[in-house]
Amino acid sequence: IRLEVALGERAYPILIGAGLLERAGEWIAPLLKGRRRVVVITDTNVGPLHLPRLTAGLAAAGVSVDTVTVPAGEGSKSWAGIADLVDRLLDLRVDRGTLLLALGGGVIGDLVGFAAAITMRGVDFVQIPTTLLAQVDSSVGGKTGINTKAGKNLVGSFHQPRLVLADMDCIATLPPRQLRAGYAEIVKHTVLGDAAMFAWLEAGGGAALLAGDRAALAKAVRHSCETKATIVAADEREGGQRALLNLGHTFGHALEAETGFSDTLLHGEAVAIGMVQALDLSVRLGLCPAADKARLVAHLVACGLPVDQQACGGPFDPATLVAHMRLDKKAKAGELTFVLCTGLGSAIVRDGVPESDVLPVLSEAH
Ligand code: NAD
Ligand code: ZN
Repeated sequence: IRLEVALGERAYPILIGAGLLERAGEWIAPLLKGRRRVVVITDTNVGPLHLPRLTAGLAAAGVSVDTVTVPAGEGSKSWAGIADLVDRLLDLRVDRGTLLLALGGGVIGDLVGFAAAITMRGVDFVQIPTTLLAQVDSSVGGKTGINTKAGKNLVGSFHQPRLVLADMDCIATLPPRQLRAGYAEIVKHTVLGDAAMFAWLEAGGGAALLAGDRAALAKAVRHSCETKATIVAADEREGGQRALLNLGHTFGHALEAETGFSDTLLHGEAVAIGMVQALDLSVRLGLCPAADKARLVAHLVACGLPVDQQACGGPFDPATLVAHMRLDKKAKAGELTFVLCTGLGSAIVRDGVPESDVLPVLSEAH
């Protein structure tokens, strides 16, 4: 499967399939303009599992590889992590023509993308996402960055990759909980834009994907990448409709902040709960039929995803959660902004939602 992110001279392809790492040289060598060297950056979990296949695939095309391995986990997406990575790249004598390859989940993709944006004032990079979350969401669209004391993803840059290689074979080694968390972003893409695809997931497509069915996985990854590519091409810097991709994220981020962005609650799990809360708010505001919220809850539950705060040690104090939302970088002047659902398959952005409408949602169990 080959898709295109239509961004003019910064356009790039997304390739989705099995066995892509072994063939990586075919697509990467042409990006090297006669050079023969790349630097692969991966983490301590992914390296042992998938780096040998990638290295072999590059060697087959005569490309030599330097490797930098960083500790697995969100902690690497930090000031210390970016400083360490850039220093190690400079030690390897990278120059403006060096291509960086990000082999890993969203942490590696965000970190390497940011390193590519700032090293030598910008070098090219390729996303090779290995988690479901990264394949269906974070590897496409060019948002890169790190976390700081003040919060997640508050420092970064828009820097588009030259290519996204989503090898479905990587998904086979992913822990089931990580697989489900990534699946939440697939559900998100259908809730905000495609009722028929939601119905397909609901009718067994989602269960098949989670059970390891390759055809179902390919169909869903393709759908998510198409959805994201279309929205990003129309609004690269999130001036408008790209914000729709934040469905469930204002609520979700507040929960992640409360749980300390830890393993207690994975990002995708927070998005699952956050989507239910966003639909609850949409129902309360008269925008969305209650039956649609019920369908979402039923599907998430059937897939083993959490749907309320009780699943992550809550319920938390609603006023504290609202305070997190006002600090969210999507919030303008401390106003509460939400992506709301106007029925499964369509969504809108609403600014200035009164706190009095939000508080009841935060004390509700589903
Ligand atoms: P992650 O990169 O931490 O990966 C999750 C875990 O799985 C890690 O322990 C990793 O080592 C391991 N792993 C990765 N691939 C594996 C594989 N194939 N087999 C076995 N283990 C594997 O987390 P993630 O969920 O991929 O990404 C989360 C990050 O993505 C967050 O930092 C989030 O902010 C970011 N994100 C960015 C965007 C964006 O647009 N840039 C969008 C969504 C999320
Ligand atoms: Zn997300």
